[in-house]
Amino acid sequence: MRLILLGPPGVGKGTQGARLSQALSVPSVSTGALLRALIATGNETPRVLEARQILSGAFVSDTFANQLAFEAIRTQRGFVLDGYPRSVSQAEALDAFLLERGTALDAVFLLRISDLALAARVAGRRVCSECGATYHLAIAPSCQEGRCDLCGAGLTLRPEEDQPGKRLLRRQLYEAQTVPLCAFYQERGLLREIDAEGLPEVVYNKICESLFGLI
Ligand code: AMP
Repeated sequence: MRLILLGPPGVGKGTQGARLSQALSVPSVSTGALLRALIATGNETPRVLEARQILSGAFVSDTFANQLAFEAIRTQRGFVLDGYPRSVSQAEALDAFLLERGTALDAVFLLRISDLALAARVAGRRVCSECGATYHLAIAPSCQEGRCDLCGAGLTLRPEEDQPGKRLLRRQLYEAQTVPLCAFYQERGLLREIDAEGLPEVVYNKICESLFGLI
């Protein structure tokens, strides 16, 4: 299965991507996570310097995002993409990449949520400063408050979300660059809209119901 998860920042694409990845035995590829991993190396290479751009809330270039995604899926027969593609230009590059390999996407899930529910979801999100594991204060808290269950390091807000101004920029970029992708994939008969208001398992079940129609 070659799947894409679309939706505004904070809707839960990472959570659903991890579940789908496990269930389908395919990698979940998040360009955001790849960028954060690059930043965490602390190197001063051009790629790391460009990756640091995301700390202000800005997108990296389409070329860079394409490179990261293609490196990650080049040898994979299936995948779940989260946070990529984020623009029509990236979607076109992905189509061309897959076509060259004689493959294509199976489905694109658009996770929909009200602005109110999204604000609550983003405000409660915490991430481990060391290993990147994600938590939510209300829905998926860590065992010990403020500490990662996996490595014991401190939990923080995501750097690119730690100020309301950055959240706003991320949201504006989503509306301007990523929302047009819905029409792009709708025209290709790939888009499946999922009500993402509920708990993670409820949303996951809805994705699975939609997915079973494909198998
Ligand atoms: P995410 O974890 O998907 O929310 O991504 C975190 C940040 O990385 C985003 O706010 C963007 O600044 C950047 N980023 C992630 N994926 C892409 C992409 N496909 N194109 C451009 N920028 C990206």
